[in-house]
Amino acid sequence: MFARHLAVFCLIFAGLSPARAQYSGSLDPELVVYLGTGNGQSAATLKYMRQELTSLMHQAGYRLVLRDLHDRDNADGETLVIVELNGSCAMPAGFPPASDTAPRSKSLATTAITDGRVLPFSAVECAALTRLLQPALMKQPGAQRDFLYGRALARVIAHELHHGVARTPCHAHFGIAKRAFSPADLLGESLPPSQFPAP
Ligand SMILES: [Zn+2]
Repeated sequence: MFARHLAVFCLIFAGLSPARAQYSGSLDPELVVYLGTGNGQSAATLKYMRQELTSLMHQAGYRLVLRDLHDRDNADGETLVIVELNGSCAMPAGFPPASDTAPRSKSLATTAITDGRVLPFSAVECAALTRLLQPALMKQPGAQRDFLYGRALARVIAHELHHGVARTPCHAHFGIAKRAFSPADLLGESLPPSQFPAP
């Protein structure tokens, strides 16, 4: 079972990001992500998401700074992306099987494109993510479920950051930048980071 999002054909990218090349010392360039979470998100899931996303961005050559969207103020000079989490990004105990009559998003997440230009605005559809993860997570105890969900959420966000930071619709054949994620990609021990191409 795969979930697709930006269906755009493109070349596979390669090469270091210019930001990373610019900072050849020990300090990675800062990537500021403003996260819009709405109300009632799971603190545990967000904690594990933050851990995984920080690790993934570090591997991609960035020092992640995650801020609440409501705290957005002076952002001049920052490399920033805005990510909205739509719906409830967690799978609570006793979550019922997904109803076939419920409206379904075709995408786990999207990044805005206007006139062919990729913009640094992304949204994650947590209902779609929950549906994808549900068969595997229902078997897990609560704490492990939060951990796995949070880690999977981070991988979805990292994928959109790849689009938003590099301003590209391109995908890779493997890793965070692959076109579609399976439950195994999202729940596996690791998913290789992809090089962020030049914006
Ligand atoms: Zn994509």
